[in-house]
Amino acid sequence: MAVYLCHEFPELYEHEARVVDAAPGRVLLDRSALHPGGGGQVSDAGWIEFGGGVVAVAGVEMVATQTGDNESWHVLGDDVELSGQVVVRVDAERRSRVAQLHTDSHILNALVFDRFPGTLVTGAQINADGTGRMDFDLSDIDNDVLRALDGDVNAVIARGVEVRSTYVDAAAASTSDGLVRSLSVAPPPTPDGTLRVIEIDGVDRQACGGTHLTNTGQSGPIRITKVENKGKRNRRIRFELA
Ligand SMILES: [Zn+2]
Repeated sequence: MAVYLCHEFPELYEHEARVVDAAPGRVLLDRSALHPGGGGQVSDAGWIEFGGGVVAVAGVEMVATQTGDNESWHVLGDDVELSGQVVVRVDAERRSRVAQLHTDSHILNALVFDRFPGTLVTGAQINADGTGRMDFDLSDIDNDVLRALDGDVNAVIARGVEVRSTYVDAAAASTSDGLVRSLSVAPPPTPDGTLRVIEIDGVDRQACGGTHLTNTGQSGPIRITKVENKGKRNRRIRFELA
């Protein structure tokens, strides 16, 4: 997990950038506020203004380089090949929908972890259309109990709880109970050995590289639409912004 520009400046929705590399329909910039996605979260989208007009950014793809770095290539809405200076604009509505659902998924995760101690997340997906899902390593639980959790999530949303991001030492974090909770979506540490931690005051604290709100009250309520059994030990909870 690199330190993304959108982590340092969450309110940055428009900025200048320089084209570092390009191909028809794809561009690598020297800086970008678009979140590349990961850990089940869909990437940001937006627009790039260039000398010849405006092109949509459909998404961001992380591409591993031969030196082991990751480059975030912006996938464009048409086959234009960009060069020189451009202006990047983030799709703020999409960012907001994803940040709401992502923050709400932390609340849901915390509630499940509290109620069924030690429960791990086995997968998660946050989509741009206002829907998401979380998979939990859970057996012998009545699906109706899980389906009713949206009321508890919405109660935390309504309380307006502060959400903070901090950085902690990765080695210390791995021994801190429950901080790296996921089976498959735990983010790697930053190059300097720190881990980004998202804390929902008194509710949840876990390592995460995604986009979040700064207060749960910024989210609309959610609705759990479906609980499915996925194999013997897995439950899939589907939810959406209500
Ligand atoms: Zn998160």
